[in-house]
Amino acid sequence: MKQEVLLGDEAVALGAIHAGLSGGYSYPGTPASEIMEFLIKHAERRKKFKASWSVNEKVAYEEALGISYSGKRALVSMKHVGLNVAADPFINSAITGANGGLVVVVADDPSMHSSQNEQDSRYYVQFAQVFCFEPSNHQEAYNMTREAFDVSEKLGIPVMVRMVTRLSHSRSRVLPRPSRKQNSLRLGVGKDWTLLPVNARRRFKILLEKQSELLKVSNESRFNSLRLDKGDPSLGIIASGIAYNYVLENYEKGKSFPSILKISTYPLPEGLILELVNNVETVLVVEEGYPFIEKSLKGMCGIRGKSLIGKLGGHLPLTGELSPEIVRQALNMKPTEKRTIGDFSLPPRPPQLCAGCPHADTYKVLNKVLESYSQSNVFSDIGCYTLGALPPYNAIHSCVCMGASIGMAKGGSEAGIHPSVAVIGDSTFAHSGLTPLLDAAVSNTNMTVIILDNSTVAMTGGQPTYASGDGLLRMIEGVGVDREHIRVVEPLPKNFENNVRILKEEIDYQGLSVIVAVRECIQEARKKKRS
Ligand code: SF4
Repeated sequence: MKQEVLLGDEAVALGAIHAGLSGGYSYPGTPASEIMEFLIKHAERRKKFKASWSVNEKVAYEEALGISYSGKRALVSMKHVGLNVAADPFINSAITGANGGLVVVVADDPSMHSSQNEQDSRYYVQFAQVFCFEPSNHQEAYNMTREAFDVSEKLGIPVMVRMVTRLSHSRSRVLPRPSRKQNSLRLGVGKDWTLLPVNARRRFKILLEKQSELLKVSNESRFNSLRLDKGDPSLGIIASGIAYNYVLENYEKGKSFPSILKISTYPLPEGLILELVNNVETVLVVEEGYPFIEKSLKGMCGIRGKSLIGKLGGHLPLTGELSPEIVRQALNMKPTEKRTIGDFSLPPRPPQLCAGCPHADTYKVLNKVLESYSQSNVFSDIGCYTLGALPPYNAIHSCVCMGASIGMAKGGSEAGIHPSVAVIGDSTFAHSGLTPLLDAAVSNTNMTVIILDNSTVAMTGGQPTYASGDGLLRMIEGVGVDREHIRVVEPLPKNFENNVRILKEEIDYQGLSVIVAVRECIQEARKKKRS
């Protein structure tokens, strides 16, 4: 087969297709979105497997689990915080087990390029007690995803592939292998997937008993490699994922190299770790994310008496992405010589709403209305509109996680804040805003929810939204919001005065009101016009 130049995310998707994928599901989130974009493109062309966006990560996981229970191979992908949303089915499906190969690809975002935290998904792997691959390059992203389906079927559990931003969003050559056939429908008759306590206790015991098998697969995996330099025992390096490449970049090919263990699988391959530790005096751990391996080593029998360095002792930073240069410092090497090749200084580009964005008009209206109240709070959500926190709008006061705005506004109202306002986008509302709105409707809480309907998931590149237009209005009414207090406005400069009046009326209403601000994202409108 011919080599292809692929994003890390695309290499994952191609690996899954060639492994005999039957279904792929996801919710958009940087840096994982390109996995599903690639799958959808190929599903449309090949018409052999199903690939689609889901309403949120939990639903995506459950759809993939349904495929797996049917004996077929499924992939679910998401960004790291998406796994918080999908944690319930993820952890419980480790107990029921998988039937057809079930692979969950999670892309972590160290440095928070486009996220609210740096959480490290390897802790979820440990928590759920499942298996994980961590690729260090694009070819491995392809190979490991492909193999993850086999390991999932062999061990009968979901298997994670952990990506990071730098790998997801860089391109490199990948040599694919021939496609395999899909599994045929194979129902797991007799398998106890019904987690009644009596079954759950039995299944959990089975999961615990499998742990030694997981460890064996990890110890024997061809993706881990140990190279011992018997001549110089002073330093041994343990490196995982993309951090392994950062170490390699600091050594010239063919020149002497310290002992190094590359870790690509979890649970940690203890046998290989102890072999390295027994042959060196000091161990440097280089890993992207939290000091997961380093902390595990501290608790491992056999590391005692050796010097262990890494993130915990300050040899590497605890926050942010690593880089070859940062790793170079930890290796006690001279900094690389900097070369200047002309002046490429660019004007600063602080994040901001696009010129003409509909959200800007909504925030102007909101700020105008709130001027006349002595105390108010605007609880926001995740989307382009979060940029309303910045000048010149300074319109929102909090943003925590997907769908949180409505619940927080309810809590704020119950604490005595008036006006208590929630601002949420259409897609985020479908993702996890419906249930808190139901809560607020049941108690008719004195608060106002502004839903920004721009007909797309704008922030991640314009994926489809499942709560827009008339359908969105029916959902709002359906959860019990009084029809009289569901108001639709069009956020345009010419409607400013009218929109101020409507918003003020609803804020002054003593109960729950919802304002739906409907105007298409201008980037999407332009895309449509161009095509
Ligand atoms: S992409 Fe669309 S929604 Fe996002 S800031 Fe630009 S115009 Fe506004």
